[in-house]
Amino acid sequence: MNKKAFPLHKLGLYLHLPFCSRICHYCDFVKSALYSEEQKKSYIDSLEHLLDDYIKAWDEIPGSPKEFYSVFWGGGTPSLVTHEIIPIMQKILKHTRAGAEVTLEANPEHINEESLKIWALAGINRISLGVQSFNEEGLKALTREHSREKALEAVRLVRKYFPNCNVDLIYGWPGQTEKDWEEDLSLLTKSGATHASLYNLTFEGSTPFARRVARGKMEAIDDDRLYGFYETACKMMKDAGYEHEEVSNWHLPGFEAQHNGLYWHGGSYLALGAGAHSFLEELGPYGTRWQQSGNWRTFVPEPAANLQGILTRHYNQIDADRDVEAWILEVVSSGLRTARGINISAIKDKTGYSLEPRPILKQAIDLGLIVRDEKGQLFLNELEWFRETRWSLEVALSFIQA
Ligand code: SF4
Repeated sequence: MNKKAFPLHKLGLYLHLPFCSRICHYCDFVKSALYSEEQKKSYIDSLEHLLDDYIKAWDEIPGSPKEFYSVFWGGGTPSLVTHEIIPIMQKILKHTRAGAEVTLEANPEHINEESLKIWALAGINRISLGVQSFNEEGLKALTREHSREKALEAVRLVRKYFPNCNVDLIYGWPGQTEKDWEEDLSLLTKSGATHASLYNLTFEGSTPFARRVARGKMEAIDDDRLYGFYETACKMMKDAGYEHEEVSNWHLPGFEAQHNGLYWHGGSYLALGAGAHSFLEELGPYGTRWQQSGNWRTFVPEPAANLQGILTRHYNQIDADRDVEAWILEVVSSGLRTARGINISAIKDKTGYSLEPRPILKQAIDLGLIVRDEKGQLFLNELEWFRETRWSLEVALSFIQA
């Protein structure tokens, strides 16, 4: 990936499938466990119509890529569909570069040889497994459906058919000890996963967990303990040969997350489906963001003749008038959570703003918490990625107020 240029001219495709067999109590995504097979089919048909409209409108965005760099089926639980995605995948692959990463999120309880063969046939080449924990107590605490044995078996089966497999784990669940977390990490690194996403448990929106915390019926783990779990992950993943690419993401050499890399480094992504967020950096001086309505039951887009029609008919919450300050803050805060950091001269080329470190930033550079190298990259020390928000504003202001 070119580290310097904005825009990156890379366009990812995200497709959101909101269907789940049951609802996990920490989950704040757009999802539903109440749906019929007919509704599922008509939702996938709607995704296909929306994709058709967008591809027709490609030429209206000067300089925008005309093929997808990566594809990601997220949810919800995309592993609740198998052969139903074959027609839309055939269309997607015609507009996707050769060798692109094509990921499908799956839950361990849905993994079997037959579904893996269908997904491979459909053109999926990477599975992202929502394991969350290998610990029986942890799975119970997180209200997951699968067992430790099923999770281990699922990773083994996925690796039989797919060379690239991500495993998601959550840390900070109620009752989790440091030893539990070490065991989870140890099983993960021995499982054959080529990529790992390790997230701390959050209590967001109106999830059952967030409501329990608000009523004092559940206690969120404190920040210092969470940071301890993060430090353990940094050490154990490194010892096992994984490279740390982003605060929550590690990979074995050669298995960087290509699609997620677009989110972290300012790339474009078209997101189709209920509640999905899109960003096109080629649309407007600092890109345009928009979000689709979260109501999947009414997700039946009318055909649109042009880009304006797509944006106004299919989406709400369009943010087209983004200014330079908002862009800088976004690029800084997402880049400072990654190994690549941010490129000072690329930001200057795009915005005209140079970096003039404010006193706190100068001090952090002197202390080695932040590194500025001779190539113009600015990095946070890995252990500070977890507390990136404390530095992002300083760095952004060091550009804006220079
Ligand atoms: S965590 Fe995944 S499986 Fe659980 S409710 Fe959310 S989207 Fe569905």
